[in-house]
Amino acid sequence: MRILCGLFEVFRAGGLIQLYRNDRAIAAYLGLAIGDALGATVEFMTPREIAAQYGVHDTLRGGGWLRLKPGQVTDDTTMSLALGCSILAQRKVDALSAAHAFDAWMRGKPVDIGNTVRRNLLQFRKTGNPEAPYSDHDAGNGAAMRVLPIALATLGQPEETVRAASRAQAHVTHNSTLSDAACECLVFMVQDALLGADKNHLLHQYAHPLVAQHPEFKFRAVRQSSNPSGYVVDTIQAVFQSFFDTDDFRGCLIDVVNRGGDADTTGAIAGMLAGAAYGLKGIPAGWLTTLNNDTRHACKTQAKALFELGLTLQ
Ligand code: MN
Ligand code: MN
Repeated sequence: MRILCGLFEVFRAGGLIQLYRNDRAIAAYLGLAIGDALGATVEFMTPREIAAQYGVHDTLRGGGWLRLKPGQVTDDTTMSLALGCSILAQRKVDALSAAHAFDAWMRGKPVDIGNTVRRNLLQFRKTGNPEAPYSDHDAGNGAAMRVLPIALATLGQPEETVRAASRAQAHVTHNSTLSDAACECLVFMVQDALLGADKNHLLHQYAHPLVAQHPEFKFRAVRQSSNPSGYVVDTIQAVFQSFFDTDDFRGCLIDVVNRGGDADTTGAIAGMLAGAAYGLKGIPAGWLTTLNNDTRHACKTQAKALFELGLTLQ
C-alpha cells in the first residue's frame, strides 16, 4: 500500500505543496536529461578506461562514441519527450498513440536507438499492434529509461491505474516481467519523491520489495556494479547503489556514470530519481546551463504540463 496516497489527499488543495512538487517534477525531468548527457560521453567504456581518459568524468563535455556536443542528449531523453507529447495530445496514456509517437521518433533518425526498441517498432509498423510479444529476452532497460512521463501524468492515481499505464507504454517495445517490475518500481519511487518522501522511505517501500519479489535485482551485499550492461537488472543495481549510497544529485550522477557501461541510461534513470528526491536546488548550475537549450526548455515545459494534466485527471 502506498502510504503517501493519504498525504497526497491532504495536500492536494495546498498551493504551496503543489509548487513544491512542481519544482521536483521539473528537477526530475532535467535530471533525466543531464544524466543522459553526462553519461553518454562514457557509454560503453570501462571504469578503468574512464579513469585513464578523464580522471573523474564530471562535466557535460560531449564526445563519446556518438560524438555528441556538450549538453546533447540521446534516446533516453528524446523517447521520454516523445512519450510525454503523446500523453499530452491524448490527455491520457494510450499504447497506440505512444507507439505512433515512438515510430515517428524513429523516423526522425535519432542519434541512438536500442536493438529491442528498433525491432519491436519495426514489428509495430507491420502489424499495427502496439504491444510487443512477451519475451524474457526483452528485459533491456529501454522501457525503464522513459518512465518519467508516466510518473508525472498518473501522480495520485490508484495503484492499479499507475501500473496499467506503466505497462501500456513499456510493452510497446519491452514486454517482459523484469522490465515491468523495474518500470513500476521507478514510477512509484519518483511519485513518492515528488510528494516529499525521503530516500529511506523509497528504499524500504519500493527497492527492498522489488528485490524480495525478484531476487535478480539484489543490489546490497553484492559486488559494486561496474560496467553495467543494458540488461535492466544491471541498470537498476547500478542506479540503486549510486542513488542510495550518495547524499546529493551531483555525487549520485558522478558515481553512476563513472561505472561506465550503459552510462547514459544509468545516468538518465539516476538523474530522474535524484532530481525528484533533491529538487531543483540540488542540480549544479554548470550542468544546467550546459544542457542543450532546446532540451532544457522541452523538459521544463513538459514536466509542468504533465504534472498539471495529472492533477486534472484525478
Ligand atoms: Mn541513449
Ligand atoms: Mn544507453
